[in-house]
Amino acid sequence: MSVLIVGSTALDSIKTPTAENPRLLGGSASHAAVAASFFAPVKLIGVVGEDFPKKYLQLYRKHGINLDGLQTQPGKTFHWSGEYEVNMNNRRTLLTELGVFEKFTPHLPAAHKSTPYVLLANIAPALQHHVLDQMQRPKFVVADTMDLWLNIALDDLLKLIKRLDGFVLNDSEAHQLTKEDNVFAALKKIHKLGPRYVIIKKGSHGSILSGPKGFFICPAYPLHKVVDPTGAGDSFVGGMMGYLATARGSLDANIRRAMIHGSVVASFCCEGFGLNRTTKITRANIAKRVKELEGLTRF
Ligand code: AMP
Repeated sequence: MSVLIVGSTALDSIKTPTAENPRLLGGSASHAAVAASFFAPVKLIGVVGEDFPKKYLQLYRKHGINLDGLQTQPGKTFHWSGEYEVNMNNRRTLLTELGVFEKFTPHLPAAHKSTPYVLLANIAPALQHHVLDQMQRPKFVVADTMDLWLNIALDDLLKLIKRLDGFVLNDSEAHQLTKEDNVFAALKKIHKLGPRYVIIKKGSHGSILSGPKGFFICPAYPLHKVVDPTGAGDSFVGGMMGYLATARGSLDANIRRAMIHGSVVASFCCEGFGLNRTTKITRANIAKRVKELEGLTRF
């Protein structure tokens, strides 16, 4: 079964304390789509401008990503720039140039509308709604978000959360949404907003799932060096949805393993700038780290 992914398709200029890389392939949907592609066929929905490098289209294709829903519009590709502090956790946005995203209306090709798994990666909630409106009874819909939408589009976001099977957000966003300092109290409040599955990401400290079968604590893979964490959250949720789409059996039984696989893909993402490292790994590389994580957490 395949996964439909909508989100930002961007050029990212990223600065860390030791290096600077302009105009990398980025965006929430790009990271999520590449991560999901290790496990399942992916259909990407997004928009790029005429300046979008051909080599990045080839990179999507190399991962077997279906680009029928990727529009090319006159104008510039969404450009985001961020800078990390020495601890590599704190990030400052330097620039956001919306470009063709300003007028983006996602249109789903007819063949995409019955895709069973849908990932609404980080993008304006109004656009996430627009994609969901076009879907025909999807099996499992998950959305991600960011603080910006909590600040400027909270009503749209709350309406969206009601329509989801799963909602993924990071700990500071969960705090902002619920005003709860305790992560378990926050999870409880977010369930009341609609979704059966809620996942709170805690960066290098892993993530916590709350679902019908209770909690699951998912570790992050222990990395000794982080080169660039941009897109780690998107890789996590993309990898998770890709794994879920092809796993046999019930969702409840598979979601924990799916999170572990997402966590491992996210670890590779952090080891290179943009998608540089993620696009060079194999299923065997992923399987090896999954085994290591299993060993690290069994007792
Ligand atoms: P993350 O590191 O998981 O927060 O994701 C970083 C990605 O989000 C980058 O590749 C950016 O291109 C993308 N991004 C940054 N700002 C926005 C925004 N306002 N809307 C959608 N995507 C964004």
